[in-house]
Amino acid sequence: MSKSLTRSVRGYAALDPNSGLAPYEFSRRELNDDDIGFEILYSGICHSDIHQVRQEWGPALYPMVPGHEIVGVVTEIGAAVRKFKVGDRIGVGVFIDSCRKCRNCNYGLEQYCAEGMTGTYNALERDGKTIAFGGYSNYFVANERYAVTVPNNLDLAGVAPLLCAGITLYSPIRYWKVGKGSRVAVMGLGGLGHMGVKFAAALGAEVTVLSHSPAKEKDAIAMGATRFIHTKGDDWNKELKKGFDLVLNTISAEIDLEPYLQLLDTNGTLVVIGLPGKPYAISAGTLLDGRRSVAGSMIGGMPEVQEMLNFCGEKDIVSDVEVIRADYINEAYERTVASDVKYRFVIDGKTF
Ligand code: NAP
Ligand code: ZN
Ligand code: ZN
Repeated sequence: MSKSLTRSVRGYAALDPNSGLAPYEFSRRELNDDDIGFEILYSGICHSDIHQVRQEWGPALYPMVPGHEIVGVVTEIGAAVRKFKVGDRIGVGVFIDSCRKCRNCNYGLEQYCAEGMTGTYNALERDGKTIAFGGYSNYFVANERYAVTVPNNLDLAGVAPLLCAGITLYSPIRYWKVGKGSRVAVMGLGGLGHMGVKFAAALGAEVTVLSHSPAKEKDAIAMGATRFIHTKGDDWNKELKKGFDLVLNTISAEIDLEPYLQLLDTNGTLVVIGLPGKPYAISAGTLLDGRRSVAGSMIGGMPEVQEMLNFCGEKDIVSDVEVIRADYINEAYERTVASDVKYRFVIDGKTF
């Protein structure tokens, strides 16, 4: 089948780093044999969208239609599609392709593809010339390998953020074997952080939220945290030092890691997940004391995204969302940057 660009789609795009997002019409390709076409019902707003629109991670590709937390219902399938049928509830996350042959792709770790994953937006597709347009739009075409099935019992608006915020916390929580008795701290109660609290609590861990927004305490406890610490002043960590096995850093802003590193007990790990764009300074002395580790983790591969959604289906876990119209995106960005989000903005796909 041809890859001609004929399908007209309505979305929102940024044309440069400074002007915000505005309505934008564009085309998507006709379906290849292994493609699915779907109507987008909800699209989450990730802080990574804001970093990229504003070029906080370096030069970006415009026009940019952001959005990599996408859920919808299949409306068309290509002749060779096996995983999906028309009417299925599906999701697409942070990447839409990868080399499909390297070691990482073969292990289902496509996010670490040797050739680099193909991002859902702010990227060129693997033909090297088509700009990938993301989920802030009403229709999507995806290769079936890079889409997942959404359990039927879950509210779709609350599922959208699982495609990035959810998997990004689920993956390190599984990798570092969080379970009953684990002492876990979550830095920042935003879109990612609140999913970390829910997953770690569901697995039986003792969860402490470290937040610079004291008004979030009640919500944190309702999500399953056992303790909430307001990270104010120089002494906030005094009683907490050497008290944690795993510290998950989801903070979007530049911060001093030192007081958080001091929280790790012997052999503990601080996982860097937030991506403010500038390097962190790390004190060698603090790292040596107690054989502490600093690690990183990036989203999750396709098999793990499906595993995470199945886990959410079993445990009835979704994101806490504020559903907005497309014309509210710019305000939602301002509120997200101001940490005023409960706990993920999700755009109603019918409003594009
Ligand atoms: P978000 O919803 O804006 O949450 C970030 C939270 O960080 C805020 O709610 C706030 O929590 C805290 N925070 C913000 N500014 C702060 C400051 N100046 N000092 C201390 N704390 C501050 O963002 P998100 O969508 O969860 O994304 C978080 C970060 O992860 C972003 O940098 C994003 O790009 C990155 N990310 C990484 C991956 C990955 O694969 N590793 C995937 C997705 C996103 P409190 O109000 O509770 O303090
Ligand atoms: Zn994201
Ligand atoms: Zn690969």
